[in-house]
Amino acid sequence: MNPARLLLVIPCYNEEAILHQTHAQLVQYLADLKNRKLIDYQSKICYVNDGSRDKTWEIIDTLCQQDSSVVGIKLSRNFGHQSAILAGLETHVAGYDCFITIDADLQDDIQAMTAMIEKHRDGAMIVYGVRNDRSSDSWFKRFTAEGFYKMMQKMGVPVVFNHADFRLMDKRVLIELGDFREINLFLRGIVPLIGFQSDKVFYKRLERTAGETKYPLKKMVLFAWNGITSFSTFPMRLVLYFGLFNFIVAMAIFGYILVSYAFGFTVPGWTSTMLPITFFSGSNMMALGLIGEYIGKIYEEVKARPRYIIEKIVNE
Ligand code: UDP
Ligand code: MG
Repeated sequence: MNPARLLLVIPCYNEEAILHQTHAQLVQYLADLKNRKLIDYQSKICYVNDGSRDKTWEIIDTLCQQDSSVVGIKLSRNFGHQSAILAGLETHVAGYDCFITIDADLQDDIQAMTAMIEKHRDGAMIVYGVRNDRSSDSWFKRFTAEGFYKMMQKMGVPVVFNHADFRLMDKRVLIELGDFREINLFLRGIVPLIGFQSDKVFYKRLERTAGETKYPLKKMVLFAWNGITSFSTFPMRLVLYFGLFNFIVAMAIFGYILVSYAFGFTVPGWTSTMLPITFFSGSNMMALGLIGEYIGKIYEEVKARPRYIIEKIVNE
């Protein structure tokens, strides 16, 4: 069997502090894989500049000039991590046998790529990189991440526990991925839905050696919320249950009021008026807000705007 032609896709947003270091490591690693005939000589690295405001694009551009096995894609503005990955993948479906996506900070251990490629050789169409040691993350990140994966699984979203976007995908998988047209892209949820034979590779998540995280708490929460509402209508179901429960309680109160009236106990009571009003108006508002969230999602999807816009590609 011929070694597979691999494209490494790396989304970059304000990564000037780390890009040189990342590139040096990747080049060395790929050279080794090529020598060991694990990947084809034409395998390349593709950096996708996701609208960085620092010198990231200049660095990518220079790397492209120095080395024809580096592809640079410049998006017209910041479209987000998921869209940047998609841009790198979709523009190259035709030329490669398999694709690995990895973050620019190399927090995901590149050594795991060898095992990914071997598993691909053995027939896996998707190989998920799974962090089995997150001791380099803060307890807060670990705690929230664990809660997130568990909640997603409970709601019926088929995410792979502790897998982020470090994965290998065969070309076939990418072709099918092209049919998932959603704007609110959440690859961790979509890829398992594609099916095919898949496998996992475990690794220890490392620390960021330079630059800082592009996912502060607010963005992390938004990302998780997006993942949930794009994949599961379970929160709406919860609201329905809650609404039903409220309705039953309301009926009981209703009965109580009627009985009190019949027996002449209708003492003007502030508490018994205010309690139901605050409770029911509060829960109504919450339900409306949640439904609004989903309508907002529908609104975005219906517009079907492009998920990314490419300004230019170097060394295509
Ligand atoms: N990234 C991106 N666009 C964004 C935010 C992040 O392309 O809007 C990239 C970033 O450059 C990095 C990857 O996504 O390669 C993951 O980001 P980061 O390492 O900051 O996230 P963390 O590992 O802290 O969750
Ligand atoms: Mg990171």
